[in-house]
Amino acid sequence: MLEQKIVQIEWAGLQGQRPREAGCNSRLAIHGLYVRPGIAVITTDQGVSGFGWSRISQSEAESLIGTPIADLYGAEGEGEQKYVPDAYRAIEYPVWDLVGQLTGKPVYALVGDYQGDGYTAPCYDTSLYIDDLHLTDHQEAADLIAAEAQEGIDQGHTTFKIKIGRGAMHMPLESGMQRDVMVIKAVRQTVGTEATILLDANNGYNLNLTKTVLAETIEDQVYWMEEAFHEDGQLYRNLKDWMAKHGIETLVADGEGGASANLLIWAEDGLIDVIQYDIFGYGFSRWLKLGQKLDTWGVHTAPHHYGGYYGNFATCHLKNGIQNFGFVEWDAAVVPGIDDSSYTIQDGQVQVPNRPGFGLTLDRQVYDSAVKDDGFIAKG
Ligand SMILES: [Mg+2]
Repeated sequence: MLEQKIVQIEWAGLQGQRPREAGCNSRLAIHGLYVRPGIAVITTDQGVSGFGWSRISQSEAESLIGTPIADLYGAEGEGEQKYVPDAYRAIEYPVWDLVGQLTGKPVYALVGDYQGDGYTAPCYDTSLYIDDLHLTDHQEAADLIAAEAQEGIDQGHTTFKIKIGRGAMHMPLESGMQRDVMVIKAVRQTVGTEATILLDANNGYNLNLTKTVLAETIEDQVYWMEEAFHEDGQLYRNLKDWMAKHGIETLVADGEGGASANLLIWAEDGLIDVIQYDIFGYGFSRWLKLGQKLDTWGVHTAPHHYGGYYGNFATCHLKNGIQNFGFVEWDAAVVPGIDDSSYTIQDGQVQVPNRPGFGLTLDRQVYDSAVKDDGFIAKG
């Protein structure tokens, strides 16, 4: 298997659609209806293919033609675990999928102990955006987001992430704060006491506003507070001390974008409980290694994944290699060309198929036409 080499790399952008338009977060305008995952297919000289998310350019793809699998996938140091080296990160997901095809194993079985059927990963519904700015009445706004949470319940979700920070830019501060709290309470009312609620302010709060919202929602049991403000060791220390004093056990989550170089130092110091580097930006192999380090610090792993579609599935497989894995960020969409029907959500868990690689199926007709439209084929 390892003596095979890559003889062809194809790339195309596919387009899919969310079930509902995603609105604003605290700092950006409407996110919209569409997702556009770039998908690469890599093929060996034995005619075996793997596919997955990629942003590779044609010239980079051409430079990788002829690369043996032994280079693309190997052990580092003394451990037995194999990874895709940093040099090949541009086609990391297709390589993991290809190795799955060659070994007949799902990726989860390549990265962790569990090898059987019935593999699952906890996920959260990430679709509760700031979708209510057209409404002047706070209660109507809260009811709208609660109705969206109900749609998530109907899809099998039990964990929900709510976008907050309306008063950072979209609304006057006090009014936005009031609405944030009413939205949280309305969602809690709808999802029930057993469900898990996460908040994400996209850095739209400051320390005092964060304390205000956490204090006003104590009985709503917020599990994590994500990107309350741009990460800062002093402010996080203050927040942690304040939470301890008030018996608030909400976790601090951060690291999604433009993360501080000190993020991991603060995590090791106990100031940040959940690390959220992006599943594509940071990468699967690097996440596997980092997650195992976070395990030793008692810090949770919950990669950011929004708008990429493919990360819904790929992130599930990481869980098998990381003890303190938190959640898969689930950004539901339908993408013509990719059959994901072997993945389902039940009781807040993604049921992951025991199929080779990432377990997805590519529709070659749709993909070939996307390659012709605006993609490329690199071959030796
Ligand atoms: Mg976020």
